[in-house]
Amino acid sequence: LRGVVALDGPAGTGKSTVAKRLAMALDARYLDTGSMYRAITVAVLRAGVDPTDPGKVAEIADGAKLVVGTDPEKPGITLDGDDVSVEIRGPEVTLAVSPVSATAHVRELLVAQQRAIIADAVDNVGGIVVEGRDIGTVVSPDAPLKVYLTASEDARARRRTKQDSAAGRESTLDAVLKDVQRRDNYDSSRAVSPLKAAADAVEVDTTDLDLAGTVDALLDLVER
Ligand code: C5P
Repeated sequence: LRGVVALDGPAGTGKSTVAKRLAMALDARYLDTGSMYRAITVAVLRAGVDPTDPGKVAEIADGAKLVVGTDPEKPGITLDGDDVSVEIRGPEVTLAVSPVSATAHVRELLVAQQRAIIADAVDNVGGIVVEGRDIGTVVSPDAPLKVYLTASEDARARRRTKQDSAAGRESTLDAVLKDVQRRDNYDSSRAVSPLKAAADAVEVDTTDLDLAGTVDALLDLVER
């Protein structure tokens, strides 16, 4: 792969798994931008700061040092030297991440870091698959391929529930559905960089596709 594949879409569309598989198939790097917003949220929660207080959240973000792995086989992320790869997936973080990621200063900091990671991967490896909410619209508006993944709400809630149980977290379909709806509403209606498809993104509906089918559909788009 040469350059960037931008992969955006709401929660539970299978974005992370698809992005990792795609990067492996293309011998490319992989960047999970959501993990960065989640890691800042860990820092906010550890400091006992209110996630809806933009001034305090910005201060925490300024003092937080993230190191993000881009190997699709084992991405990993550290916060101030501490591996937070598991903690970032916990329910407390998932609950607090939306207001943290709606903080303009946090987005400025993380978008700059993301662009540096992307430039480095393109220089050194040639290509990178980047997943998030604003990759095609803000982080990498010049990406040659932008994909917007969608799936029915029901399919998304089912996938998240399955992922939770595979990771040993208890969750019910109803609770997961409510959480997916809450986050999508928040992410789509925030003032800065709301979740939306770039005008030139290709929309891929994964409701009736399995993982292999989705990856194949994207590989076709890359080769076009
Ligand atoms: O992708 P994931 O579910 O891990 O993202 C967690 C949260 O991080 C999202 O709900 C969204 O609020 C935020 N996010 C974002 N912009 C990105 C990636 C994630 O605002 N590029």
